[in-house]
Amino acid sequence: MSTSDYKSDADRAKEKLETVSPTMCLAKWNQTSLHLPTGKTNSCYHPPLHKISPDKLNYNPASLHNTAEKLQQRKEMLEGKKPEGCSYCWNIEKTGEMSDRHYRSGEPWAMQDFDDIMKKPLDDKWTPRYVEVNFNNAAISSVVTAHHSSPPRGARKSIVMENIQRHLLTTCRNTFKERAGPCQIESIIHTLMLSGDGGQLCTRISNTSV
Ligand code: SF4
Repeated sequence: MSTSDYKSDADRAKEKLETVSPTMCLAKWNQTSLHLPTGKTNSCYHPPLHKISPDKLNYNPASLHNTAEKLQQRKEMLEGKKPEGCSYCWNIEKTGEMSDRHYRSGEPWAMQDFDDIMKKPLDDKWTPRYVEVNFNNAAISSVVTAHHSSPPRGARKSIVMENIQRHLLTTCRNTFKERAGPCQIESIIHTLMLSGDGGQLCTRISNTSV
């Protein structure tokens, strides 16, 4: 996407978001960061991380992303209120500039769901399209062990990441199966970012056709 597309998409998003409220942001629905070592999440990476409730995961796996805190923040956005955690954007907008609220919402992986989000905006089973997962050495070891009875010494980064990717896609498929239905989760998730091992491992899988 060229710089001018990025800007014009954000301009269009600004107008569209205004039809809902002056504080609406699609990243609150369609983007998630999951920090497995701490059990915390946020939407885009600006708001503070908060705990995922393990109890709810038993009956609603999609609460991995749709936490009570995010649902409250979405409600506030629909009402034109400014969730405190999004102060990064509010501070920029105070200066009259456009913020990540407009830029993130204008990206295709976010804007494509505008109508569906508005049909059921407080759905606690909503599937995000931009997923970032941070994990630690224990998670890496368990994934490598699951796919190699005797893990190769110094397994190459590509092998490790390939296995983690497969594992996470399976998890995403099970977690968000309600929205995915019979189709492949890969057609729903636009971007999957994986990072861990102190930044040694980092990969990004993008489905640019979405
Ligand atoms: S309003 Fe800004 S900080 Fe809040 S989710 Fe959107 S982009 Fe992130």
